Amino acid sequence: MNQKISKRLEMVAQFVPQDARLVDVGSDHAYLPLFLVEKGVISYAIAGEVVQGPYQSALQNVADSRYKDRIEVRLANGLAAFSEVDQMTTITIAGMGGRLIADILEAGKDRLGQIERLILQPNNREDDVRTWLEAHDFQLIAESILEEHGKFYEILVAEQGKQSLTVQEKRFGPHLLKETSPVFQKKWQKEAEKLQFALAQIPEERELERARLQEKIQHIKEVLDVSK
Ligand code: SAM
Repeated sequence: MNQKISKRLEMVAQFVPQDARLVDVGSDHAYLPLFLVEKGVISYAIAGEVVQGPYQSALQNVADSRYKDRIEVRLANGLAAFSEVDQMTTITIAGMGGRLIADILEAGKDRLGQIERLILQPNNREDDVRTWLEAHDFQLIAESILEEHGKFYEILVAEQGKQSLTVQEKRFGPHLLKETSPVFQKKWQKEAEKLQFALAQIPEERELERARLQEKIQHIKEVLDVSK
C-alpha cells in the first residue's frame, strides 16, 4: 500500500521520533499510522477512534494493508485508547478544535506520565492548547505552520518540562513568533482583515465590544510590524 496523506498530516508526521510507540487519537482512516509504518519511522501504533464510522474505516484500511500486526485500531474515547502496559511514548492529536484537544488531554492527564512527546494540530483555538500545556508542565519544543487548500494549520510539539508563556506567546506561538514565516504573516494579515471587517459592522455605541476587537487587531499589527 502506498499511503498518500495531506500536506498537513505529513507535517505532523515529521515530528514523530524514529521508533516511537505512537497513539494517534481521532485516527479516522488510520492514515497517519499507516504512513509512518510504511515509511519505517515507527513499528507499532495504536489508532484510537471514538466514533463507529471512522473506527470502521480505520479497521478496514489497516486490515487491507500489510501492517495488521503493527497497528491496533481501538474504539476508545481520547487517551483511554492506551494504558501503561502499552508503553506508548508519543501521542498525535490532529484535525480537531483546540478546545477539544485540551479537553482530551485534561480527561486523560493521568496517562501522560510516560509520554515523551505530544504532537498536536488544532484547527483553531491554538491558545487553549498552549494554555493547557503550560499548566500541565509540557513545554513547546517546536511549532510549525502551513497553508493547505486556503486554510492555515499550526502544529504544536511539546515535551515534559516547565515553561512560562506570555499572553502574546499563547496566542501566536513562542516559536512561530520568533520565526515569523511568510505563512505566519499571511495567516495573521488575513485574521486582522477579518476582524477589521467585523469591527466595521459594530455600531459606535457598542463601545466595549469595539474596544475588545480593536485591541485584538492592534496586537496583530504589533506582531506583524515587528516581523517586517
Ligand atoms: N486525525 C485525522 C486527521 O487529522 O486527518 C482525523 C481528523 S477528524 C476531523 C477528527 C476525528 O477525531 C474524527 O474521526 C472524530 O471521530 C475523532 N474524535 C473526536 N473526538 C474524539 C475523542 N474524544 N476520542 C477519539 N477520537 C475522537
